[in-house]
Amino acid sequence: AQERYSSLRDLPATTADGQTITLNMNAGLMADLPSLESSGAAGVGLFRTELQFIIRNKMPQRSELSALYARIMDAAAGKRVVFRTLDIGSDKVLPYLKPQDEPNPAMGWRAIRVGLDKPGILRMQLQALLRAANGRPLSIMFPFVAHPSEYDAARAALDKVIAREKILGHCLPESLDVGVMLETPSLAFAPAAFFKKIDFLSVGGNDLKQFFFAADRENERVRRRYDLMDPAYLGLIEMILAKCAAGHTPITFCGEDAGRPLEALALAAMGFRSLSMRPASIGPVKNMLRRIDLAAARELIDSHRHKGENPRAALKSWLMVQGAL
Ligand code: PEP
Ligand code: MG
Repeated sequence: AQERYSSLRDLPATTADGQTITLNMNAGLMADLPSLESSGAAGVGLFRTELQFIIRNKMPQRSELSALYARIMDAAAGKRVVFRTLDIGSDKVLPYLKPQDEPNPAMGWRAIRVGLDKPGILRMQLQALLRAANGRPLSIMFPFVAHPSEYDAARAALDKVIAREKILGHCLPESLDVGVMLETPSLAFAPAAFFKKIDFLSVGGNDLKQFFFAADRENERVRRRYDLMDPAYLGLIEMILAKCAAGHTPITFCGEDAGRPLEALALAAMGFRSLSMRPASIGPVKNMLRRIDLAAARELIDSHRHKGENPRAALKSWLMVQGAL
């Protein structure tokens, strides 16, 4: 199937009505990087840094991490890589940093909460990233920011690390983008000033959906019950897009839904101009986007959701009639 899409590799994901959607890939291993070239992804929209921590039985050294991050940036050959700081807790447990027995680990001590409570780990990882960049542009994203104050605290930690690197005479990145993942509904209600001060925002739809609908993403009985195209969820997405537009905040979507053609179409129609997905999804999503009129898709979606109806079935038959699915 990948060969079917290889002819599209170097073509942009531009819709029939002239809207270009940037398609990035998600990664988490050095071994994922060759896909950047083969899939034609614009960059790595989400690099999950957990794995290097999970596969060891003790905390990795700063120098090991720094060497790995540098190799990833080398392999990306100038394409942007967004490094997400450690997102452990929830389903990802480190043998050497066990949380208390938590009744609800997905809502427990995880991600940036661990980073802020154990600042030594966060500082070490930030330092490793800065040293890996060694003067090159660097993008850092903090996971699971549920409250603006968590971004402020993480950003302050980063600024401290930068000041220290400067004193030590290390080369600082040529440019630095610092963003957050929006994974809890609470952050969508943050004040306008918050959206203005962050460099970018990435919607983590896997977690956002589970918390919006209170439906555990790991629980087979409930996880497919709710849908990205539910009018309530599209309303939330509309609000997040509007807040980012008002703050001139670059926004992208990096949950699994971005890699499903029907969902990707809904996201683009709602206003996303950047999506990040597993590499194998880039071809199918691009193929679909290049065939459709985005404004017409939006009209179709709105005509259903404004009546409280899920537009999925209508959108699907609309795509099939055009041979885009
Ligand atoms: C998400 O929650 O949508 C996300 C991309 O992060 P993860 O799947 O690693 O929790
Ligand atoms: Mg998440």
